[in-house]
Amino acid sequence: MEIQKTYVMLKPTCVQRGLIGEVISRIERKGYKIIDAKMMYLNEEILREHYAHLTDKPFFPQILDNMTSGPVLGLIVEGRNAVVGMRILMGATKFEEAAAGTIRGDYASSTRENIIHGSDSLENAEIEIKRFFG
Ligand code: UDP
Ligand code: MG
Repeated sequence: MEIQKTYVMLKPTCVQRGLIGEVISRIERKGYKIIDAKMMYLNEEILREHYAHLTDKPFFPQILDNMTSGPVLGLIVEGRNAVVGMRILMGATKFEEAAAGTIRGDYASSTRENIIHGSDSLENAEIEIKRFFG
């Protein structure tokens, strides 16, 4: 049994669509705790850092547009095996692969606007928590 912290971010589309409550309910229902939360407007600098693995992609400008279109809600989520657990709860990155029953599968119909971010490894969770919560 390993208690972990992971970084989760409800993207601007999630906030704009009024889905904060729905998504947080699912995270809590799973048994995880929200141990910190922060509404933020992200700038290009922090997004280039956070999405460094994607800055060379042709669709990166659209990611920037999407992620700066309104506030995000950053969360620190804690629980047993929370890093992998949140990834499973979120569903796959590509909308056509995100299974029904997952957050993305149930609420997103586009890969870009897939409403939620979750750290993909324990190492990145630590880096991302520092990046967004200091
Ligand atoms: N993304 C996109 N098109 C792609 C791949 C990714 O628009 O072909 C966006 C999508 O919103 C995704 C984010 O870039 O959530 C980060 O991509 P990553 O591969 O890290 O996926 P994630 O970890 O979010 O599942
Ligand atoms: Mg990722």
